[in-house]
Amino acid sequence: MSAAVIIGASHAGVQAAASLRQAGWQEPVILLSAEKDYPYHRPPLSKGYLAGEKDEEQLLLRAPDFYREQGIELRLEDPATSIDPVARKVVTRSGSFGFEKLLIATGSKARPLPLPGAGAQGTFTLRSMMDARALRDGMRQASAAIIIGGGFIGLEFASTAIRHGLDVTVLEAQPRLLSRSLPAALADFIRDRHVSSGVRFRFGDQVAAFEVSGGRVTGVRLGDGQVLAADLVLVGVGGEAETALAQSIGLDLAAGGIHVDGHGQTSRPGIYALGDTAAFHNAYATAPMRLESVQNAVDQAKSAATHIMGGNAPLVAVPWFWTDQYDLKVQMAGLARPGCTEIVRGDPADGAFSVLQLEGDRLVASYTVNRAADHMASRRLISEAPAVNVALASDASVPLLRAVKAAA
Ligand code: NAP
Repeated sequence: MSAAVIIGASHAGVQAAASLRQAGWQEPVILLSAEKDYPYHRPPLSKGYLAGEKDEEQLLLRAPDFYREQGIELRLEDPATSIDPVARKVVTRSGSFGFEKLLIATGSKARPLPLPGAGAQGTFTLRSMMDARALRDGMRQASAAIIIGGGFIGLEFASTAIRHGLDVTVLEAQPRLLSRSLPAALADFIRDRHVSSGVRFRFGDQVAAFEVSGGRVTGVRLGDGQVLAADLVLVGVGGEAETALAQSIGLDLAAGGIHVDGHGQTSRPGIYALGDTAAFHNAYATAPMRLESVQNAVDQAKSAATHIMGGNAPLVAVPWFWTDQYDLKVQMAGLARPGCTEIVRGDPADGAFSVLQLEGDRLVASYTVNRAADHMASRRLISEAPAVNVALASDASVPLLRAVKAAA
């Protein structure tokens, strides 16, 4: 049987199934999910869903009928357990499926913190719908939360938990927030917004253990012996690509993920990897890297489907991300490079500003707070790479697309 088998039914896997059908793939499409829930949007799990503003039905990626209508065999709770790349079949919990094309979209998992007391009741990570349900229930019963890791998960949860009336402390190992993903000016602005809402931060502390009594977490112990009390602890210390299946068949790895080319193809022809688990040399990056974003998952899925159907244009897409915390919509585009110069557009005191990073006079990365027009313009400027006029770009009253040097 010349099926396309897709392992993983989140943003990348579902998009790949849809795009294959859209591009005219006539053979079976088998979409394997380890989870029991119909595929859902992940970004709201740490935002609107936890805050009670969105229910589970609103989170569905596609209506349940979509899969049947499109002839996509969605198999819930049927995870792949092994791949035979020679016989070209995938073994799952329930059986085995031959494939002509295999798409690995296994995503990433929350990095664990293997310390004494890990896994006690009241400790959480946040990745899946099941995690979000448990965390939401935990939040309703808790009064003091400690968040380990001041990254996107931790900060989005902090903004929800504090509004929910919890006492919230964030422990970040680095001297500042989001040191890998945001410029200091922006990260400090976000920190201050949290502090003004009552969130406490501790930077540079090592967590040594979870304090546990009667199977329930009661706090965390720091490296210096100090104990901070809490009845809920969220661990948000980053993600790790799910590469076990890929490794078991010897696929090349890079940057902690499955190495793919510009079409999403792995080191074995006919086997693709997409989304969080894939590492590829994005046109705007200096080396292969993983991009953990919905946009990248969707773009890579479309690109792989196109290649499977005979297209040959590699994926070229400016990476972009966003995070919502309180009344702040933070949008990021492009990828920072060492040695960039920085321009701040607008006044952080107004609650809306942008930080632009330039290499020479070309825009390479942009970070905006409540300036959606700057974000959209940045994506275009990063992609088209005209020379930027720094004086105009620094003037927030000038539309960013006009802040370019006149062509000679
Ligand atoms: P993250 O954004 O990578 O942030 C983790 C933070 O925790 C980093 O600052 C990290 O510092 C710090 N950290 C690591 N070990 C620590 C320790 N032992 N104690 C205290 N701090 C520690 O990861 P995340 O927040 O867990 O999110 C995971 C993934 O979820 C993201 O990569 C993304 O895919 C997804 N996500 C994205 C969004 C969004 O884009 N809006 C929102 C939610 C989730 P180091 O940098 O030194 O490791």
